[in-house]
Amino acid sequence: MDNIEVNGNQLWDTLMAHAEIGKLDNGGICREALTDTDRQGRDLFIRWCREENLDVGIDALGTIYATRPGTDNALEPVAMGSHLDTQPTGGKFDGILGVLGGLEVIRTLNREGIRTRRPVTLINWTNEEGSRFQPSMLASGVYAGVLTMSDVAGISDADGIRFTDALAAISYRGDEPVGARKFHSYTELHIEQGPVLENEGVSVGVVTGAQAMSWNRFTVNGRASHAGTTPMPSRLDAMAAANRIISTCYALAGSVDGGCATIGVIRAEPCSHNTIPHTVHFTVDMRHPDDGELERMLADLETVMASERTRGFGVHREEFATAPAVHFDETCVRTVREITEALGYSFREIVSGAGHDAVYISRVCPTAMIFTPCKDGISHNPLESITLAEAKAGADVLLGTVLRLAGAE
Ligand SMILES: [Zn+2]
Repeated sequence: MDNIEVNGNQLWDTLMAHAEIGKLDNGGICREALTDTDRQGRDLFIRWCREENLDVGIDALGTIYATRPGTDNALEPVAMGSHLDTQPTGGKFDGILGVLGGLEVIRTLNREGIRTRRPVTLINWTNEEGSRFQPSMLASGVYAGVLTMSDVAGISDADGIRFTDALAAISYRGDEPVGARKFHSYTELHIEQGPVLENEGVSVGVVTGAQAMSWNRFTVNGRASHAGTTPMPSRLDAMAAANRIISTCYALAGSVDGGCATIGVIRAEPCSHNTIPHTVHFTVDMRHPDDGELERMLADLETVMASERTRGFGVHREEFATAPAVHFDETCVRTVREITEALGYSFREIVSGAGHDAVYISRVCPTAMIFTPCKDGISHNPLESITLAEAKAGADVLLGTVLRLAGAE
């Protein structure tokens, strides 16, 4: 039972047919949450689910649950899924592979006449991307209790359109309370969105969890003075201090396997080419798969900040967001690994560098993820690309995992 395979061509045709909705001239997709293209993408998905005789339910945040009955429907269903919404210039696979790969799993079970003990539920989470409505992973966040319905009530897009109104406008506000459905387990198939699997020539990523992260705003204060008349030793150049701190961030991240440092925003004041800056603001995004390693990196950063203070600089760090490392459920991860091995696909274990619905769901339900490689590691981009073989391998592993967890009769 562990080596039944999905129909790769049918999966690919389904992905390409769905990619017609919100299609951009450059090959990408624009299907931001709760837009009319999102509605069309949902409508098509539900039509396909009904063709497979699934029972479709919608919750108060528009998340779609499509269920194939088991032989014992008193048991909690085994769940799988991801998201159908995209970035404004997104690709054809981020999230979509997990939903339509799940549909292909259901089609395979139907085609083969396989009965499972537990029901199987395929989920499309609302607003994973967070480009139109922040924050991202909104519906799974509420499902997992990280966000509340009153948080959502206060959310509007850049045009002032409220999330709740946009949801009603596309007719996807369901009756079910969010979080009312409980699941035995949740497995999400997703593209890696990074280059690791491709670089190693590996077909499947067995995802063990997600990185710990720390987002920080830095302010460094020095003294403005003339760029030509102030000798170097007499300067209190805020940019020079910022440079030393930033260099330390890169060095720290580079010194440990799996460490990441990103300085994505930097601003100098007074922002004049011939005045030494008195203030520099910048952000530091630090990540590591291990909480302890991230803590050590941040402690080393504090040491460098202290030495800048002894040179006379004002240095302030505000940590504005933080998340601990996530470890997926041992049994679910082992199941993914064993199924991948049984199918003969090459694989490696990997820690997710990006946020996913599965990261939130893992707080309330045993969870695992399956990654497929994506070309050059590119995503959130019209160039996002995977092959039919990669999509099929991921869906095969999803099928085997769901079958094992749901109990084939
Ligand atoms: Zn995604």
